[in-house]
Amino acid sequence: MKTKHFCPYCGDGLTDKHVEGRVRRWCDQCAAPVYENPVPAACLVTADPDDRILLVRRSVEPKKGSWCLPGGFMELGETPEEAGLRELHEETGISGKIETLLGITTHSGNIYDTVLVAGYLVREYSGTPYAGDDADAAEWFARGDMPEIAFTSHKAFIDIFYTAYI
Ligand SMILES: [Zn+2]
Repeated sequence: MKTKHFCPYCGDGLTDKHVEGRVRRWCDQCAAPVYENPVPAACLVTADPDDRILLVRRSVEPKKGSWCLPGGFMELGETPEEAGLRELHEETGISGKIETLLGITTHSGNIYDTVLVAGYLVREYSGTPYAGDDADAAEWFARGDMPEIAFTSHKAFIDIFYTAYI
């Protein structure tokens, strides 16, 4: 993960200090820790009538060139459902409706230490997928024909779908 060097509020340099049970980045000027928390994201298992799943091939780091579920980070003011459906539309052109929550898990990121990922199922949708933002391909994959998935959290949601929803 990336380390914060300056206070986002006053611009002073940060140091490490043991506060409230763990080592945190500390600002002397503000006399306060700079709290760091997991960053929430949402991703979508979008399944077609043949139970194929929509994957995108990433055109940006991390894991550029590998396949994953459409998804991304929540913006301020969004619900996780809104974030997931927005990302689905931005990355594939598909407009979807969420059927259910598949689960919530975490994975380690290279910028953020911990990403909290909510996975949702979409089986009602409109549109034909194309490669949109952050993707250079968007395609349907059958269960036996699945490429390697870039993120363990995404793979887990795909497994939950095939285990519990078909
Ligand atoms: Zn400060």
